[in-house]
Amino acid sequence: MGLYQNNPIFSHLAPATALTLAALALTLFLVGCGDRADSESAHEFLLPWPVADSAEGEYRLQRVQVKGLEDPGRLRGSRAEILSQVQGFHSGRMSGRLAEPRLAQKDGLWVPKDDRSSMAVALYAHLDRLVRLDEVLTPSRHLRRPRQAAFELKVQGGRYNQAVYQPKIDAIYFSPYRMEGLSLAVNGGVIAHEHFHAHFNEFIIKPLLTQHRQENLPRLNSSGALALRTPADHNWALLRAWNEGLADFWAYIYGEGSPFLGQSLMGMSACRIGGPARGGQGLQVIIPGKVQPRFFHPREKLTQEPQTLITSCDLYSLGSRFTRLLQSLAELNAVQRPAAHGGQVLTHYQAMGALILEKLPQVYRSLGPSFAQAEWDPAELLVLFFQDEDLSRESCFLLNQALDWDPERREMLQEVCPSETLEVTD
Ligand SMILES: [Zn+2]
Repeated sequence: MGLYQNNPIFSHLAPATALTLAALALTLFLVGCGDRADSESAHEFLLPWPVADSAEGEYRLQRVQVKGLEDPGRLRGSRAEILSQVQGFHSGRMSGRLAEPRLAQKDGLWVPKDDRSSMAVALYAHLDRLVRLDEVLTPSRHLRRPRQAAFELKVQGGRYNQAVYQPKIDAIYFSPYRMEGLSLAVNGGVIAHEHFHAHFNEFIIKPLLTQHRQENLPRLNSSGALALRTPADHNWALLRAWNEGLADFWAYIYGEGSPFLGQSLMGMSACRIGGPARGGQGLQVIIPGKVQPRFFHPREKLTQEPQTLITSCDLYSLGSRFTRLLQSLAELNAVQRPAAHGGQVLTHYQAMGALILEKLPQVYRSLGPSFAQAEWDPAELLVLFFQDEDLSRESCFLLNQALDWDPERREMLQEVCPSETLEVTD
């Protein structure tokens, strides 16, 4: 453990040093059992890793089985690839230096020797697992592989503390992290969030760009705000908010409801809760997952303050209300999916993940053609997601509540919920 003392990534992970041998042995046993049938190459690393079922989204140094690497010192597998330096772009992909972590080996355990090495391996391990999760949720359709990510990238203008999915190169990059908390490139929740943007890009944004030229799409002004003048402005704002909200929800799917997104104090965390963070404690205190959301509509803000523009902060805020709603529905076990390929039974969160990936193309087919003509109602997205699902009374009640008991929207909900479940009760 001495390796990690005085190391900025791990400075807040003091409990890790108290990790007992018994706990390590238990982790080893659990990991070993789950993977016995898989003959693919696997190496064991000591990594900062989310603690299973932690209500606080805690991270500790743990033994983690990492799959798909021929050589543990070169982070390229068939599902994920990590670059430590980007030299250029070829055929829409990043090219550069492959991450080669510095490692020590002891009794079959690979221990990263420094911060950068640890970060690179953790990033690979999460990305590889996210692709494997996609394979379980939608066996017949997948994103281009290997998924690429680069870390500690010096970005133009010297920006820090950013995690970005860049659609032009279909890759994720992280700029150097200089804030408190867990480094973004080690945070499985943040990696899951960025990974989801690739799905949204593939099924929603790309088809939209084949219909509308990029330069005709609405743009945020220099201070990051958007005026909602046309239906396209409004729908673009809604798409951006859904993209962010669903990406946050993907972090919860990956972490099975654990709030580990909040372990890194990101610049946008205050926006995600629709107001200033209370007590500076970040997301984890304020998004408990069970808050009943009031569904937010971009127009509502303009109605109240006609001169106000929609800022990117508003878009995160709008998206996070959607995240909370999906979390609450996942916890109500709102949708069911049969066991996946290989007999794996899907959890409540994973069933919602399968639903989202299944319905995204349909969302575009239904809403895309009217992008520039008519303002979409947020309720339409919910109806498209939950059509043909056998929703419980509790789930319908929650959806109705989320839409503010609005009679017009309730009419839309009748497409997915029997009308007796939509009665207003005190
Ligand atoms: Zn995002």
